[in-house]
Amino acid sequence: MVRENIMKVRLRIASACARVGRNPSGVRIVAVSKYRSLREVEEAVESGVFDVAENRLQEATLKHASLSPDFGNIRWHMVGHLQTNKAKQAVRMFDFIHSVDSIRLAQEIQIQASKIDKTQNILVQVNTSGEKTKSGFTPQDVKEAIRIIAGLKHLAVKGLMTIAPIVQDHEQARPYFRLLRELLNEVNSLLNTQHSMQELSMGMSDDFEVAVEEGATMLRIGRAIFEG
Ligand SMILES: *Cc1c(COP(=O)(O)O)cnc(C)c1O
Repeated sequence: MVRENIMKVRLRIASACARVGRNPSGVRIVAVSKYRSLREVEEAVESGVFDVAENRLQEATLKHASLSPDFGNIRWHMVGHLQTNKAKQAVRMFDFIHSVDSIRLAQEIQIQASKIDKTQNILVQVNTSGEKTKSGFTPQDVKEAIRIIAGLKHLAVKGLMTIAPIVQDHEQARPYFRLLRELLNEVNSLLNTQHSMQELSMGMSDDFEVAVEEGATMLRIGRAIFEG
């Protein structure tokens, strides 16, 4: 089932890319495996999805430790809110942290990454909808935040991440994705090209096609891969 689902997702990504003249190779599927079994994660990897995400550090660590070495080529992504006191473990666990939502967290990741001489890939989360329940910098604050974070030598700021609100019609998610893309362009033109960021982590099971049309490079997809 996972394999068929991933094929369907890939077809839908290809159609969305065709509509806006994008190359599908610029869109990466990140399988969000929270609440899923090890076997399901393995099926995703066997179907060619090597990027796997969790929203909790503990769950990622458990799965990582339980998988056989055959699955050692997985790139692990953190997509949930990360507490500062878990930065040390997170830096050891994740290839990408999508949910950097405060300067303090970025600084703590810097400290922990420097201890093990790692350059940690991160994305800066933006609360594009302004919903109280969501973490992330406001669109107003994010440029100044990135100016500061870009100075942290053990962080590689790869781009921006957002979670669109739950809407009835997927089309209603479009303005939030568009805003994130515009913010990325603005930040890139403010900072020097050395820090040019390319990644837009946006789009989930219900809205990923709209996200692709708006320039998403990383889709965080759970249910469309593991359910149904
Ligand atoms: C769960 C989760 C997803 C995946 O959501 P689906 O609707 O299952 O595709 C994506 N991003 C984050 C931050 C999540 O927590």
